[in-house]
Amino acid sequence: MITNGDSATPSDFQIQQFRVDLTTQQVAPELVVCEDFEDVFGGMARGFKVLENAPVDDAYAPEAALLMNLGILSGTDFMTGLRTYFNAYSPLKRALNGKPSAMWSTGSGKFGTKLRYLGVDEVLFTGRCPEPMYLRIYRAGDGQAPQFEFRSATELVGLKVNARIQQLYTEYPDAHFAVIGPAGDNYQKVRYAGIALSTVNQLTSGDPKPRWCGRGGMGGVLGSKNLLAIVADIEDPEPSKAPAIMKELNSEIAKGKGSSRFRDKKKGGAGGTWANYEALNPIHAMPEMNFVPTGTAVSLPLYRDNVESTGDFIVKDESCFRCGISCHKNVYDNDNGKAAKFRAKLDFEPLNLLASNIGIFDLDQACVLVELVDEMGMDSISFGTTLSYILEYNNRHPDNPVAGGVRYGEYDNIHDLIEKTGHGELELVGQGSLRASEELEERGYAMHCKGVEFPAYLPQTNPGYPWALAGGHMSMKTYLLVLHERETSIDYWVDAITNRGLSILRDDFTGACKFTGLNNDQMAEAIHAASGGLELSAAEIERTIRRTFLRGYLLEVRQGCTSDDYVMPSEVHQQYAQIELPYFNTPEFFSELQQKVIARLDDMLVSEGFTP
Ligand code: SF4
Repeated sequence: MITNGDSATPSDFQIQQFRVDLTTQQVAPELVVCEDFEDVFGGMARGFKVLENAPVDDAYAPEAALLMNLGILSGTDFMTGLRTYFNAYSPLKRALNGKPSAMWSTGSGKFGTKLRYLGVDEVLFTGRCPEPMYLRIYRAGDGQAPQFEFRSATELVGLKVNARIQQLYTEYPDAHFAVIGPAGDNYQKVRYAGIALSTVNQLTSGDPKPRWCGRGGMGGVLGSKNLLAIVADIEDPEPSKAPAIMKELNSEIAKGKGSSRFRDKKKGGAGGTWANYEALNPIHAMPEMNFVPTGTAVSLPLYRDNVESTGDFIVKDESCFRCGISCHKNVYDNDNGKAAKFRAKLDFEPLNLLASNIGIFDLDQACVLVELVDEMGMDSISFGTTLSYILEYNNRHPDNPVAGGVRYGEYDNIHDLIEKTGHGELELVGQGSLRASEELEERGYAMHCKGVEFPAYLPQTNPGYPWALAGGHMSMKTYLLVLHERETSIDYWVDAITNRGLSILRDDFTGACKFTGLNNDQMAEAIHAASGGLELSAAEIERTIRRTFLRGYLLEVRQGCTSDDYVMPSEVHQQYAQIELPYFNTPEFFSELQQKVIARLDDMLVSEGFTP
């Protein structure tokens, strides 16, 4: 990002863009003058503006655009400013008319920081490489422009994710990496392939510890372009002195109240997302057996305290580059009190969806499954929720099962199914729950909206899911409202979906992690300092959140979404007596809510000057 002023406005900024035609491997650099805050902030705020001008009918068409970009804080001194974004029309998210819908996926790690060091704000990929290739971005010397070099990736084909990264690392020891795995290679049979971003911990330990751009099948889009990896190859510069305000904010991030939920208990935190087991399971509000809690204590062995008390495992809190929150809860085998073999990084979502929700209640087995899904390069949320649909189908059709007849809790068969799906040998599972439920003609318990599978929070308690733009919990903050506030009126939920729930989108364009806990005033200070003088307040951030959400909603409508797309699987509207939270998401409630939310969004589009 290039600026020329101390009291800068958006038009004082320019984006260093590179347009890459993968078919010819021609690269066209361009300085794009920013028009508005969306352009300056970057991430999906900028991504949706680019996608608005590049609609496609087929997410895998060579002409489909894939924008890789940074947020304004990515690669700066701001703690957690590490995110890289991939924006494209998704092979998974879909309108009922069959057209793909705009989406983004983002991850931390150190790849984005290396892009920043290279001076690359965004790369717009179109076309398709003639053979499997990887792209190396480097500088020939200090002060030189970034160079783009394409090399054959034949040796990477067939390798799992960590092996790809480690192989590239031996060749490029100063670099960080964005790679797809086998699922991305087999994109035509797997619609939820992700993109892994390497971490410092991964490269120094050799363990499979990347961060993931998991949602929406962005790895498949990269795979469809025959681009298996991107190498951001540059030495780290000498450390610079961060401004005083940045040090103050970084200290708040590392030690303040806002991020404490994600810090380790030993450091005064609440223990990270894994602790959701302890919050949700006692009231039977945690997914088990395809999102229908058993009402029993069967998930107790998966609580972190219970795992550690077996003495079989050691859990360490580890972090991304220079992050003091250290939210990663990495599980190792316990060898006489020492952390031995790395087993898995356990967040609540992959653990729940690849254990309790598929009938696995053994931590050792859960670690293997979580790691295997990552290593095959699949989004653990979409894979896990599609798998639980298949398991439930087989439960209801014992005499006519599918996918080899796999059942809840069958560890060996599930292990086999993961490998087959990632290798493109099981399209029924690889196509995701929407398309599988259409093929099997049983839609009522396929847990998705618009083709994007639900995360590990009960849809029975969250009527906001249909309006999430890019995954139910990371793009619509309504998933725990009933637990915390127990409000069930229509007016409350209309506001939650069209106003409060949008706040979670902020860090989908700032480049920061969602776990910082900073408010918008603090973020405005950070952006002012990191950008070299952008004048802004919390109000500009809030308006950009609102405008970007509305643009995303409009892109869905332009691809053909109607009120029929903003619905939930019918069985989530039933009452489940074991869930100890208010029952309110009835068919009648949802029908009224849907009408009011859509009417409110239409009004908001007009107020913000968008043309439907
Ligand atoms: S909070 Fe966690 S995911 Fe976010 S930057 Fe820190 S260690 Fe990485």
